[in-house]
Amino acid sequence: MVRTATCPICHQPLAKADGSIPDTMPFCCKRCQQADLYRWFAGKYAIVEDLAPDRLAQEMFQSEDQDVNPE
Ligand SMILES: [Zn+2]
Repeated sequence: MVRTATCPICHQPLAKADGSIPDTMPFCCKRCQQADLYRWFAGKYAIVEDLAPDRLAQEMFQSEDQDVNPE
């Protein structure tokens, strides 16, 4: 069963038509990545340990190939 991963900001599917994953995951694009960062700061440093992007990404895409650049 394939789980569809979606961007936590705009809720669009992360996977592109060819099945590849953007290197901005777990966000669909840099814009959403920055939006999340801004939201995080604006949220007065809310604790988000349970939503650590690295961990989420690992769980969501563990079946994908490994050449993703965490940047
Ligand atoms: Zn997005």
